[in-house]
Amino acid sequence: MTTNRTFTMIKPDAVENGHIGGILEKITSAGFKIVAMKYTQLSTRDAQEFYAVHNERPFYGELVEFMSRGPIVAAILEKDNAVDDFRALIGATNPAEAAEGTIRKLFASNIAENAVHGSDSDENAAIEGAFHFSGREIY
Ligand code: ATP
Ligand code: MG
Repeated sequence: MTTNRTFTMIKPDAVENGHIGGILEKITSAGFKIVAMKYTQLSTRDAQEFYAVHNERPFYGELVEFMSRGPIVAAILEKDNAVDDFRALIGATNPAEAAEGTIRKLFASNIAENAVHGSDSDENAAIEGAFHFSGREIY
């Protein structure tokens, strides 16, 4: 079953570089409705758990350190075909390979510090949304 929701984070690099407003503008202009949002910071343990799927990868330690080093914006977004359309809007993991006009092309620094997260499946969108938000925080 496909759903119309995805989950995103504006990562610590983009927050540090003053890009919250610019990224939210791209998201809402592309037709995504924000149904939940918070400014928060991941603990080391939160980041380990959130990215547990990558715990065998060589960059896991670096990723956990990066994702927990400063505040993020977490949000649940709603739109038809949300997961795939949002992955298209953010662009490739490596901003050097991201298409023109994508959020990572515009705002990301490099493959590690790449400005935004986007869920890669409906199942993960639901898991990741529930990691950050309770039912009464979703509108
Ligand atoms: P995300 O899950 O954050 O939306 P993604 O799905 O495009 O990104 P993944 O393969 O899931 O990419 O990797 C998760 C994150 O790990 C990347 O967004 C990036 O921050 C980091 N990462 C991925 N590959 C590398 C790498 N080769 N070196 C350093 N960090 C990396
Ligand atoms: Mg991913």
